[in-house]
Amino acid sequence: MSPACFDAILVGGGLQNGLVLMALLAQKPKLRVALVERAARLGGNHTWSFHGADLPHGSGAAAALAEAVMALVVAQCDEQEVHFPGFSRTLAEPYHVITGERLDQVLRARLDAAPGGALRLGTEVTLVRPGRVELESGDVLAAPLIVDARGPAVAVAQRGVGWQKFVGLEVELAGGVAPARPILMDATVEQLDGYRFLYVLPLGPGRALVEDTMYSDSPALAVDAVAARAFAYASARGLSIARVVRREHGVLPIPWRGGAGDAPLVADSAGVVVTGGAAGGWFHPTTGYTFPIAARLAATLAEAADGELVDRVRLLWAVHERRARFARLLNRMLFRHFSPGDRWRVLERFYRLPEDTVRRFYALEMSGVDRARIVCGRPPRGLRLAAQTREEVV
Ligand SMILES: Cc1cc2nc3c(=O)[nH]c(=O)nc-3n(C[C@H](O)[C@H](O)[C@H](O)COP(=O)(O)OP(=O)(O)OC[C@H]3O[C@@H](n4cnc5c(N)ncnc54)[C@H](O)[C@@H]3O)c2cc1C
Repeated sequence: MSPACFDAILVGGGLQNGLVLMALLAQKPKLRVALVERAARLGGNHTWSFHGADLPHGSGAAAALAEAVMALVVAQCDEQEVHFPGFSRTLAEPYHVITGERLDQVLRARLDAAPGGALRLGTEVTLVRPGRVELESGDVLAAPLIVDARGPAVAVAQRGVGWQKFVGLEVELAGGVAPARPILMDATVEQLDGYRFLYVLPLGPGRALVEDTMYSDSPALAVDAVAARAFAYASARGLSIARVVRREHGVLPIPWRGGAGDAPLVADSAGVVVTGGAAGGWFHPTTGYTFPIAARLAATLAEAADGELVDRVRLLWAVHERRARFARLLNRMLFRHFSPGDRWRVLERFYRLPEDTVRRFYALEMSGVDRARIVCGRPPRGLRLAAQTREEVV
């Protein structure tokens, strides 16, 4: 059987390829593009948030994607709060929320409207190599550009990595009242299993996501127990939960060692495969967020002319890696130089920095001044240089 031919094939219908699809179609509406996803719908069971500064900036494909992404947003706020034992702050920065459900709706509509669009749901991809994608059914798809974004590997304990793990409850609130603005971190709670904080995200009238998160040394997550803690936190803060609508959880690697290596792409005469999203290492090493970096990759893929695509992706990767290296250094400080019970002090100090620095840190676009602000000055209490030295020698 001869393969079905496209200009681009997107393997995995999650956040990364959602952004790639939107960016490609914004630039080239007639592109023949196939999106292949193993699940029955796109987007999975996720709520994604991003700050305004995380959107790709610039003209051309970046601007078009920044505009297109707003169709995915289900809720937004202009301010967020953070709370620590001795310090609270309100940050002024647009904050946007995307749900997997919304991503599914919008991407289907975009593909329906695109003359060259094809959607294959419930379709397992078994092999990806330049020019060629093989499906479990035996069908073969061909294209010069393939973006392989099949998501993060299953979390297993490994060296040089800490973990951000969380359980979120999407809840309906009695009386239809929702919190006024997001709480990015409430670290006034008991510190358990590493740095622990609660995250509260208003999702519209009478809806919120309440998430219990830990920066821990272990990927083990007792989902039911942590969900019960999130529920108890909400009740204690006066959020009267009428119903839990949905539950989500995640265990994301927070690396503090090594580098991610060469740009995650393979190219030969048949075409180019770019490994995107979490699978390719296009994520923020400290926050675990993919959105800002995945959006930059999507805009780059949409903008690059055929002959320059490989070089453009390599260049983007080099910039990402340079910034990621600094973030890994901070992770190392957090996980190796502070005991689990003291980690909150590092974050408390971070949130005292100027808002621009906080914003650029989230976007993984720190300037030299930002880096100096983050590491210079009086270290937070609890720094264990001696302990760290012994551990490093071992
Ligand atoms: C619950 C949760 C909340 C998160 N919140 C945020 C957030 O707020 N902001 C943020 O930036 N990051 C967040 N993250 C981090 C998250 O890893 C990334 O944001 C993002 O989902 C990664 O995008 P991706 O496209 O690489 O992978 P995914 O979004 O996981 O998409 C991968 C897709 O590939 C499909 N797939 C896998 N294998 C195959 C196959 N063989 N054949 C066909 N399809 C396949 C999967 O079914 C899935 O739909 C969150 C993670 C979790 C788990």
